[in-house]
Amino acid sequence: MIPFNKPYLTGKETQYIEEAVKSGKISGNGVFTKKCQDFFETNYNIKKALLTTSCTDALEMAAILINIQEGDEVIMPSYTFVSTANAFVLRGAKIVFADSMPNHPNIDASKIEALITSKTKAIVPVHYAGVACEMDSIMDLAKKHNLFVIEDAAQAIDSYFTGKDGKKKALGSIGHLAAFSFHETKNIIAGEGGLLAINDEQFINRAEIIWEKGTNRSSFFRGEVDKYGWVDIGSSFLPSEIIAAFLWAQLENLEKIQTKRKEIWNDYFSKLNDWAKKNNISLPELPTYATNNAHMFYLICKNLEQRSQLIEKLKSNNILAVFHYISLHKSPFYHDKHDGRELRETDNFTDTLVRLPLFYELNPESIIETLIN
Ligand SMILES: *Cc1c(COP(=O)(O)O)cnc(C)c1O
Repeated sequence: MIPFNKPYLTGKETQYIEEAVKSGKISGNGVFTKKCQDFFETNYNIKKALLTTSCTDALEMAAILINIQEGDEVIMPSYTFVSTANAFVLRGAKIVFADSMPNHPNIDASKIEALITSKTKAIVPVHYAGVACEMDSIMDLAKKHNLFVIEDAAQAIDSYFTGKDGKKKALGSIGHLAAFSFHETKNIIAGEGGLLAINDEQFINRAEIIWEKGTNRSSFFRGEVDKYGWVDIGSSFLPSEIIAAFLWAQLENLEKIQTKRKEIWNDYFSKLNDWAKKNNISLPELPTYATNNAHMFYLICKNLEQRSQLIEKLKSNNILAVFHYISLHKSPFYHDKHDGRELRETDNFTDTLVRLPLFYELNPESIIETLIN
């Protein structure tokens, strides 16, 4: 059986974990945590990075930081993972779902402004498959309407957006805040893990407090205050050094991992092109402003029947391909809270998108052969 995903180990994970354990400091915010945070700050031009136990947690921190109150509205795509919405729902927000672009599951930036009301507090673009949303328009809208932008960059490590000004910016460095994931299904993994990227400096102090259970412990250890205590709401959002040690082994090998994933992605893309055209199947499209980080290789079928047949065919050849997401506006939890607007493109991706296996050790040849024959 070719699995859908297989976590890749660089070989250094257990060594670094052993180092962490032997150092005698295994709670959070130690040497390995700092290495990982520095990596993001230095390589991706993020003002302040805080390691979290998941991307879900980082999104929850973001919702606290922008002070989401009961009844505030948050605009996001419906075609996304539940955590994008849950983080804000937990704080009482109403989610206003925007449709995807016709040719890409990313939020259609041209449809956002019509959804903005006096209650809107934030826009949450999700960089689906690590492909940038149209961030110029989104940041312009946020400025015009005084909103916060929180990038769900769960899938978007090592991917970039080039703006109208010609500048190439790392995803996660553009919005006021951003959240990355190191879940074992992502490019760079820690089992479970995440990171909050803070690009608007006004949030840095409070983020550290929320991260450390609502205490000013971080300031205390820097010698900025002479005792620490309860100063705000917060939770235990920081991971242990054991997780950070694992993650560091991965980050050190980012180049190698990314090179290999892109090779597999390009193999799929070039070898499936003719077959896809013949069968009315679309391969992933990359807008000119975006880069590809090879997080995901997906196909968009012409309809639900074709997708089901394709998944079946792969399965009978021992290949596991999967589909996602069930649109959040139609989910059992949220459908009766949604305002009833139809989201056609979102529904279309829910019915037609299928993801092929993509992981470091994969040889895609037999999958390609199965599909085209
Ligand atoms: C994986 C993912 C998340 C959740 O990440 P966790 O680290 O598992 O909490 C959130 N949003 C998107 C778009 C994701 O792909």
